[in-house]
Amino acid sequence: MSGSGAPPRQDRSELAHKADPSQDVVLVVNAGSSSIKFAVYGVGGDGLDRLTHGEIDGIGTLPRFHARDASGAEITGLPWAKDSNFSVHKLIEALIEWIEQRCGRGRIMAAGHRVVLGGLEHTAPVLINAGLLERLRELIPLAPMHQPRNLEPIEALAKLNPKMPQVACFDTAFHRTIPEIAQLYGLPRKLTEAGARRYGFHGLSYEYIASVLPRFDERAAGGRTAVAHLGNGASMCALVGGRSVATTMGFSPLSGLLMGTRPGEIDPGLLLWLMQAKGMAVEAIEAMLYHECGLKGVSGISSDMRDLLASDDAHARQAVDLFIYRICWELGSLAAAAEGLDALIFTAGIGENASSVREAVCRQSAWLGIELDAAANARGEQRISTIASPVSVWVIPTDEERMIAIHTLAILKELPKTIL
Ligand code: AMP
Repeated sequence: MSGSGAPPRQDRSELAHKADPSQDVVLVVNAGSSSIKFAVYGVGGDGLDRLTHGEIDGIGTLPRFHARDASGAEITGLPWAKDSNFSVHKLIEALIEWIEQRCGRGRIMAAGHRVVLGGLEHTAPVLINAGLLERLRELIPLAPMHQPRNLEPIEALAKLNPKMPQVACFDTAFHRTIPEIAQLYGLPRKLTEAGARRYGFHGLSYEYIASVLPRFDERAAGGRTAVAHLGNGASMCALVGGRSVATTMGFSPLSGLLMGTRPGEIDPGLLLWLMQAKGMAVEAIEAMLYHECGLKGVSGISSDMRDLLASDDAHARQAVDLFIYRICWELGSLAAAAEGLDALIFTAGIGENASSVREAVCRQSAWLGIELDAAANARGEQRISTIASPVSVWVIPTDEERMIAIHTLAILKELPKTIL
C-alpha cells in the first residue's frame, strides 16, 4: 500500500521492540469516502496510550498506507499492496495483520468505529451485533455518501474475526439532547416522521471538548459554550452544561458553515433552480454540493485554508471572508439558542492553527462580549481572550479517536467475560 514499489515486509522481531507485545490494544477506525483513518491504543495502567495511528488513503484508486508511532514519527517499511484493486475487506485484513505484527497476535481486544448516523434511537455508543448492523444499513438512504463507507470496515472485521467486540460511536448521538423544537424542520409532519430532521454531526469532537472543558474553564463547562469545529468539514455547537442544545449541521453534513468543498447553508429554492432551469441531474447536484462548493468553489483555487491564506488572489480573500462571516453569523444564532455565551472554543485544523481566522472571528463578534488577546492568539496559546473578557476564548485540540477508544473500552468493561 505504500507507493508503487515493493518494500519487503518487516519481520516480527523488527517490529516487536516498538510496542509492548503483551499489551492489549483497542483499534479505532474512522472510515471516510476514500480513506480509512485508524489508531491503536494500548490498554492498561491508568488510561489509554496511543501506540500508533495512521491512514490508508487513495481507496478506489491507489491505496497508500501511512502510519506514525507513539512519538509522532513516521513509520517506514509499511505493508505493501500488490495491486491497486483492493477491496476495503482486503485493506482491513492487511491493517489487522500489520497491527498484530506490531502489537502481538490476538491482542486487539475490540474495535471502535465512527459511524455517521445512528438515527434517533441511539443516544450513546453501542455494541455491534447483526441486528444493529441491519438497522444501520436501513439508515443508508439518509446518509448515502457516508454511512456505507462507515459500515464496510465493520463488516470486514466481523468476517475476519467474528468474536471480536465492535462498538459503533455515532456522530449524531451527542446531539440527541437538542430540544425537540430545535430538531424540527418546517416540513409536513409525515416527512418529519420519515426521518427528515436535524441530526447534527461532529458529535464525537464536541463530546471530547465537553469532556476536557472543565480542565480549562469550570465556569464555561457548567455554563454556555459555543464550540467551533473548523476543519475541512466544519460545524459549530452550543453546549449548555456540557450538553448539546443546538448545532449548525442538520439533516446532512452539508448545511451550516461554509466548508472546504461543501456550501453550508443555501436556499432550497436554489436546488429547484438547478434542476428546473439548469437541467442538472440529482447525481450532478450531489457531486457539486459535496465536492465543488465551499472554499474551493468560492475561491476557484483550493479547499485548503493554508493555500487561501497564502494567496493574494481576490477570490481567495473573499472565500476566507465568507468563511469568517458565516462563523460569526452562526455564533450569534448559537448564543440565541443557548440564551447567552460564557465561552467560545476553537478546534480542528483551521480552528487550532489559523490564528488570523480566529482573530477575525473574535473581532467581528466583539458585540457578544469577546475581548481578544491578540498577542496570546498570535503565539498560539490556549487562552486567547483577555482575563477581563466576559466571554473566555480557548483553543483546544480535538481528539475524536480517543473519544471512540474511551467509549469502546467502557462498553468492553460492561461485557460478560464469556463474550470476551
Ligand atoms: P481537519 O479537517 O481538521 O484536518 O482540518 C483541515 C483544514 O485545516 C484544512 O483547510 C487545512 O488547510 C487547515 N489547516 C491545517 N493547518 C493549518 C494552518 N497551519 N493554518 C491554516 N489552516 C490550517
